[in-house]
Amino acid sequence: MNKKIIIIGAGFAGLNVGRHLKNAPYDITLIDRNNYHQFQPLFYQVATSGLEPASIAFPLRRFFQKQSNIKIRMAEVAGVDAINNVIETNIGKLPYDYLIIATGADTNFFGNKNMEERALPMKSISEAVFLRNRILQNYEDALTANEEDKEGLMNIVVVGGGATGVEVSGALSDMKAYALPKDFPEIDFKKMNIYLVEAGEKTLAAMSPQSSAKSKAYLEKMGVNVILKTSLKEFDGKHVLLSDGRTLRSNTVVWAAGIKGNVLPGISTEVITKGNRIKVDRFNAVEGYKNIFSIGDLASMSTPKYPNGHPQLGNVAINQGKQLGKNLKAMAAGKPLKEFEYKDLGSMATVGRKLAVVDLPFAKFQGFFAWLTWLFVHLMLLLGVKNKIFTLLNWAWSYIAFDQSLRLIIKPYKKRGD
Ligand SMILES: Cc1cc2nc3c(=O)[nH]c(=O)nc-3n(C[C@H](O)[C@H](O)[C@H](O)COP(=O)(O)OP(=O)(O)OC[C@H]3O[C@@H](n4cnc5c(N)ncnc54)[C@H](O)[C@@H]3O)c2cc1C
Repeated sequence: MNKKIIIIGAGFAGLNVGRHLKNAPYDITLIDRNNYHQFQPLFYQVATSGLEPASIAFPLRRFFQKQSNIKIRMAEVAGVDAINNVIETNIGKLPYDYLIIATGADTNFFGNKNMEERALPMKSISEAVFLRNRILQNYEDALTANEEDKEGLMNIVVVGGGATGVEVSGALSDMKAYALPKDFPEIDFKKMNIYLVEAGEKTLAAMSPQSSAKSKAYLEKMGVNVILKTSLKEFDGKHVLLSDGRTLRSNTVVWAAGIKGNVLPGISTEVITKGNRIKVDRFNAVEGYKNIFSIGDLASMSTPKYPNGHPQLGNVAINQGKQLGKNLKAMAAGKPLKEFEYKDLGSMATVGRKLAVVDLPFAKFQGFFAWLTWLFVHLMLLLGVKNKIFTLLNWAWSYIAFDQSLRLIIKPYKKRGD
């Protein structure tokens, strides 16, 4: 009888390990709380009406249609019982011989309950749609609000100057410049302020000094107020208090300030390290467990090049998934396993229409060509031909028409009694 593998999480890591176990002598179950894979790098485009959610999601059953050794279960995993080799889920207990935890990371509010309640994160398609609704609803409400309330409805504060914060600020600035004034001619958008608040000394601190400096210069040219070396202290839903004592009037705070690993109950606290990540060895086996692996954002692997773990990036997750798939196949065939080594292909971020920054191992460049590179790479990474075509069409339309065409407020329907 084939050994049972359970993969928890169908992000970049879980999807790739599943796919690389094709034709392997295992019975695999892939579990995710959603029945689709989400392409996180483009969440901000959904939030700012640039893309529709379906363009950046891919149904899991469709992805594995032709792979007979994998079953899909849409379920919430509540914990791991490593002594009895079972996981606990909302559809019951499931046994495993090998467990692969690829649950990724979630928004880190650093224990600030007030922020958790009021600030808007962007770590799932649902959250991105919620943010889109909120932004658009704010301008609907601003039409009839008094001057004081109008200010709060129009201004937006983005917290965190990493790639997500920079990208969402840039996209909001494009909305302010091109789309919103056409939709709401009664509102004076010169009065709309976008603030990007970052506690560190620069935006895109993980990128090269050139890219970091350019991203700030581009944002400022686009009218974003970049506030560095400052953190957000308080937010009461209407006023944002900064660490330098300033108060900003805004009802909307977008939280892009950090993430923490989604560790499942049952995993020993001894293997949890910085950022709530799980310590793994060079084969992605969780320290102290014989048959549990972790890959992707959740896994922290110390190597000579990355002593504090790899950066939490799509490319790391994809390659750890591939490598673990190959190693599990080798294990079944009694062949030697290969250690994981990350080949850094570089990083990039888009700042706005025709503007991006790109750091490749052999070249660093910014501006229009960087933007084309960013568009091409993200289009190639999207799953599914239909998604690629729809995304390309949307981008082409936005480019030609100076317009994001998906400004719909679609609220979840709740039937009474449900
Ligand atoms: C806004 C944003 C922008 C980004 N931009 C870039 C970029 O430009 N380039 C780049 O390289 N990286 C980028 N990243 C990071 C990249 O998306 C992650 O590194 C990558 O998604 C990690 O893959 P993963 O498989 O480890 O986890 P994830 O992709 O997070 O997948 C985890 C999966 O586990 C599921 N799950 C979690 N807990 C449970 C549970 N208890 N039960 C059931 N299912 C569960 C989730 O539903 C999810 O499908 C970005 C991330 C964000 C949020």
